[in-house]
Amino acid sequence: MTKACKLAAGNWKMNGLHADLDQARALAQAFPDPACGVLLCPPATLIAAMAQTVEGSAVMVGGQDCHAQASGAHTGDISAQMLADSGARHVILGHSERRADHGESSGLVAAKAAQAHAAGLVAIICVGETGAERDAGQTLGVVLGQLAASLPDGADAANTVVAYEPVWAIGTGRTPTLPQIAEVHDALRAHLPDGAISLLYGGSVKPGNAAEIFAIANVDGALVGGASLKAADFGQIISALERA
Ligand code: PEP
Repeated sequence: MTKACKLAAGNWKMNGLHADLDQARALAQAFPDPACGVLLCPPATLIAAMAQTVEGSAVMVGGQDCHAQASGAHTGDISAQMLADSGARHVILGHSERRADHGESSGLVAAKAAQAHAAGLVAIICVGETGAERDAGQTLGVVLGQLAASLPDGADAANTVVAYEPVWAIGTGRTPTLPQIAEVHDALRAHLPDGAISLLYGGSVKPGNAAEIFAIANVDGALVGGASLKAADFGQIISALERA
């Protein structure tokens, strides 16, 4: 079986102004030839400028969401083709903050991912249980259910990445135990339509815990929120992934 590619992906969420492009520039200079993929997903307002900032480097730029239709009367929304046109190569879809704040269902995520694929973007599809679901012993059922319903037809290792992000670990400083991460990643791998799809872990990944998380068998990288905002921190996580 082809091996999954390693990827360190940063999600800036609703953070970042043009002055913060210095962080992307610093990352591009620090990793001229990284031994893993390096991706930054800034807010939509910075995608084009960041793509220009890191042009010619190994750092890739992505979006944080796209619409489920190709174009039309959807005020304030952004299509997958617009992201690609701005220099994005990837798009995060189904992040728990979008599932919770915007009521996004897995069916909608699949429709968005289909648009991403049609525009030539790699869809990073997020799945993860809430704390209450974990406490109720529903973790595997929830994440495998989300996976099955969020993947569009034709998802493969070239156009899709899956991120396991326990909702209760995002931005909290809490992480599952290493066996808990391993259990979910093993189950996800077994249910992927293409075993070479990269599987990222996300949820309070920091320079101090990255190496032990990347040592887990079916973890191919990380989706990183807070610690991706500063090149110094994200750089340490990238270095840990390069060594893994
Ligand atoms: C995220 O939101 O995707 C995330 C993993 O955030 P953090 O690293 O800050 O927990």
